[in-house]
Amino acid sequence: MDCRSLVNGEWLEGGEPRPNINPSDLDDVLGQAWVQGAEVVDAAMAAAHAAAPQWAASTPQQRFEVLDRIGSELLARKDELGRLLSREEGKTLPEGVGEVARAGQIFKFFAGEAVRGGGQHLDSVRPGLEVDVWREPLGVVGLITPWNFPMAIPAWKVAPALAFGNAVVLKPAELVPGCAWALADIIHRSGLPAGVFNLVYARGAVAGPRLVESQLVQGISFTGSEATGRQLAAACGAQLKKLQLEMGGKNPLVVLDDADLGTAVNAAIQGAFYSTGQRCTASSRLIVTEGIHDRFVQACVDALRSTRVGHALEADTQIGPVVDANQWRQNLDWVARAEQEGAVRAFGGERLAARTPGFYMQPCLLTGTHPQMAINRHEVFGPVATVLRVSSYEEALAVANDTAYGLSSGICTGSLKHAMDFRRRAQAGMVMVNVPTAGVDYHVPFGGRKASSLGPREQGAAAAEFYTTVKTCYLKA
Ligand code: ADP
Repeated sequence: MDCRSLVNGEWLEGGEPRPNINPSDLDDVLGQAWVQGAEVVDAAMAAAHAAAPQWAASTPQQRFEVLDRIGSELLARKDELGRLLSREEGKTLPEGVGEVARAGQIFKFFAGEAVRGGGQHLDSVRPGLEVDVWREPLGVVGLITPWNFPMAIPAWKVAPALAFGNAVVLKPAELVPGCAWALADIIHRSGLPAGVFNLVYARGAVAGPRLVESQLVQGISFTGSEATGRQLAAACGAQLKKLQLEMGGKNPLVVLDDADLGTAVNAAIQGAFYSTGQRCTASSRLIVTEGIHDRFVQACVDALRSTRVGHALEADTQIGPVVDANQWRQNLDWVARAEQEGAVRAFGGERLAARTPGFYMQPCLLTGTHPQMAINRHEVFGPVATVLRVSSYEEALAVANDTAYGLSSGICTGSLKHAMDFRRRAQAGMVMVNVPTAGVDYHVPFGGRKASSLGPREQGAAAAEFYTTVKTCYLKA
């Protein structure tokens, strides 16, 4: 598979090949991405700038049809593309297929949003005057995406961008060029005018500053690390450029004495370890009250013992490999550091060998941790979760909120009183009761507070806030 940049409706020649390696089997190379320098970003921005007015003037029906067609092809090819995703990123085949289907659903949802529109008509407070509030496209948007949801995240940025009449430059993550290429190929054949959607393979450190500094780009939407997000925030601030950031999480899952044990263990195992823990919504801190602590830990260990880690494409695999060597090393270092700080390894945390050479790691449950340990303050982004023992609901809530992040916050309890209180007082963009912290719907807002997010929410009706700008029009006859 040769992944090439798409600029102004043309697949570009040239660049340096970067091999696309399967993390489940390092001998399996999917092909290469042809990585180019700043010139590809410049060409893409110029193409998007030239094409933007035509797309901004398109009818809602035209936008509906393009987005609906993209969604239909993604759904029809979900098995094939899910396989590509799992081979490239390492999540299991059901997760890969599910993610492609999700991407298709997102395009379908935003096809509808293009038609529904979102204006408002009001009577003026002054006599004889009418007011209309419109939403207009921003213009050109630069979309920078991470490797952990290589179909769904590009989809949930590209679909609203196009639905609301913007032109796009998409810069996908280096580790997952194939999914971006497959999505671009579908978009390329969807009837969208040339130049409205452009894909660039360029290093993040090259493409990011270029997109931010260009006067041709009106907004940047980024999902990735907090460190890069902070750089972008500073740079966009200096440029007065509209910005949407989705970054890390250190998401708590509170388990109270009155929780159903099976529900709590399932939420913890799914939320912390599925998708190899490589989700910004992963439950990385399990905050457990004393009465259920020992039973909960034992049940988690039992569940982990029978959880199969292996090649992402094998039928019985529940947890795939870590995405690359760097992340693998970091995860193992975090486990070692937590042990030095006094955490106890109740399960896993070591490298695993499988049938094929890959970045396999046994999911790790660390007990005896306290809130001040580094492992409880920094995002690991791997299959590593800690247990924090607390003595009351109030202490659990305080520990849950004691973090620099605020993306997703969960509680398992049979008590309506505690569930209601938690929903009100959790300092997070998303609150989950008796379900894992990870796993969200596509038609409602996604995003967080504190260091997890900046700017308007993504997805659902909220997506219009970033991808449009408001115009207030006064009219007197
Ligand atoms: P991760 O740890 O998920 O790889 P990064 O923030 O490094 O997080 O990467 C997320 C996305 O941001 C990728 O597409 C990457 O290429 C891009 N990126 C990396 N450095 C920069 C930068 N300086 N400016 C903008 N984007 C960047």
